[in-house]
Amino acid sequence: MSDYETVIGIETHAQLCTASKMFCRCQVPASAVGGGDSQQPSPPNSLVCPVCLGMPGALPVANRQAVEQVLIAALALNCRIPERSWFDRKNYHYPDLPKGYQISQSQSPLGRNGWIDIQVDATIKRIAISDVHLEEDTGKLTHVGGSSLIDFNRSGVPLMEIVTAPDMSSVDEVREYALELRRLLRYLGLCSGNMEQGAMRFEANVSIRPQGSSTLGARVEIKNLNSFRALLRSVEYEIERQQRALQQGLPIDRETRGWDEEKGVTYVQRSKETAEDYRYFPEPDLPVLEIDTVWVERLRQQMAELPQQRRTRFASQYGLSPYEIALLTEDRDTAEYFEAAANAGRELDISPKVAANWITGDLFGLLNAAHRDIGDVRIPPRQLVELLALLAENAINIPTAKHVLRVMFETGQAPKEIVVAEGLGQIADRDRLASLADSVLDAHPDIVAQYKGGKQTVLRFLVGQVMKATQGRADPQLASQLLEEKLRSA
Ligand SMILES: [Zn+2]
Repeated sequence: MSDYETVIGIETHAQLCTASKMFCRCQVPASAVGGGDSQQPSPPNSLVCPVCLGMPGALPVANRQAVEQVLIAALALNCRIPERSWFDRKNYHYPDLPKGYQISQSQSPLGRNGWIDIQVDATIKRIAISDVHLEEDTGKLTHVGGSSLIDFNRSGVPLMEIVTAPDMSSVDEVREYALELRRLLRYLGLCSGNMEQGAMRFEANVSIRPQGSSTLGARVEIKNLNSFRALLRSVEYEIERQQRALQQGLPIDRETRGWDEEKGVTYVQRSKETAEDYRYFPEPDLPVLEIDTVWVERLRQQMAELPQQRRTRFASQYGLSPYEIALLTEDRDTAEYFEAAANAGRELDISPKVAANWITGDLFGLLNAAHRDIGDVRIPPRQLVELLALLAENAINIPTAKHVLRVMFETGQAPKEIVVAEGLGQIADRDRLASLADSVLDAHPDIVAQYKGGKQTVLRFLVGQVMKATQGRADPQLASQLLEEKLRSA
C-alpha cells in the first residue's frame, strides 16, 4: 500500500446541443451538436454576428433552451436548484475572446451540492458535484507555422461546466466518473459527448497527502484534456510525479500544468504567484434568472430515464448479467434497440437473454468492423428477432444464422427473404441425411475403424463431412445422431 493518498477533482466542459448560441441567434456549429463526420463543417467565421464577435454595444439575450438543459443536468446530478441565478463577467484578455471577458456564472450557478454514483469493481462510490453552471465557449485558435488563425464559429456556443468535489482517489475512479457523466449527458440529449470534436473537455485537480493526513496537499490543475486517454494518462503521470517529489523531500507548488500528449508528461503553464484574478462582477446586460418551482418540476417530468435507472430496470425486468447490462445500456440507442428486440421477442417466443446475446455478440462485431453505430444499423429489431425465431424452430442452423445476419446488416433485407433467395433452409429430412451419412461412412473406412477402436471423438469429423456435403445446411444434431446409430449397428 502506498504511503500517500491521492485526492482528485474533475471539471468538465460540455457543449450543449442547442439550436442557437448562448446569447445570440447564430447557429451552433455541427461539431458542437455531434453533427458527426457526415456533415461538412461550416466555413470558418461563417456562423457569427456582432454579439458573438464581441462588438462594442451588441447586447446579449440568454438562450432559454440552454438554461433549461443545464437545469435538467443539475436535476439529474441531484443538485439543489436556486430560486435566482445570474451571469457574471469573467474578465481576462486572450485572442479567442474578443470582448475581453467571458459571460459565465460564479456566485450563483444553476445547480449546487449534487452527486453522482459511480461503480468501481463491485463498489459504489458517491462523488459530490459542487457546481453546475452555464457559460459561453470561446473562439478557436489554430496555429499554423508562425501564425495563428482564429475561427469564431465556436464563440458563444453554450457551455456547461460541471465541477466535482475532490472526491476521487484513483485513476479508475476518474475513468468511471468521466464515463458515467458522459453517458448521463448523452442519455439526456444534452451533449454529444464527442471528444474528438471538442464537445466535451476535462480539467483535473490532483494533489496528494501522506496517508491519514486531513489537510489537502498543494493542488495542481491540469488543463485542456481533450480525450479520455489524455485525462487518465495525465492524472496517472501527475500522481507519480508528486509522489516522487514528496519522497525526495521536494516541495509541490500550487500551479497550472499542461499535458504533452506526445511526451506523455505534464508541464508548468502558470504558477500560483501569477494566477489570474478574473474580477468577476454581475453581467449588467442580462437580467437575473428567476427560477420558479413549477418550471423546475416541469423539467423534472420531461427528464429521460437516466443510465442508472435503466441499469436497475434491465436487471429486474430482463434478468441479464451485469456485464450484458453494462454493454446494452452504454448509450440510449443500444438500450432502445435491445428493448424493441425484447418486446418483439415476446410475440415470437424469443427470450430477452437470447436477443441480448446476439446483439452484444454478432451484431456488435459487425458494427465494430464497419465502424458504425447502432443508430445507423439497417436491421430493424423485429427482423433480428425473426432471424432468431428461424434458428429456434430449426429452420436454419447457427452458422447459417450468422451468415444471414451479415447479409441483413449489409443489405437491410428480411431474414426469410435471404434464406429463400439463397436456398439456406436447414436440411432436417431424415432419409436424405441418412443416405448422406451412409456415403460419408463408406468414404472413410479408416475413420470408422478408429471409432470402433474406441476413439469416439472422430464422430465430430464425420459430422463435419455431412455438413460439408450440404454446404453447412444439415441439422448437425440430427446428422450426429444418425451417424452414431449407424456406427453402433454396423
Ligand atoms: Zn452570434
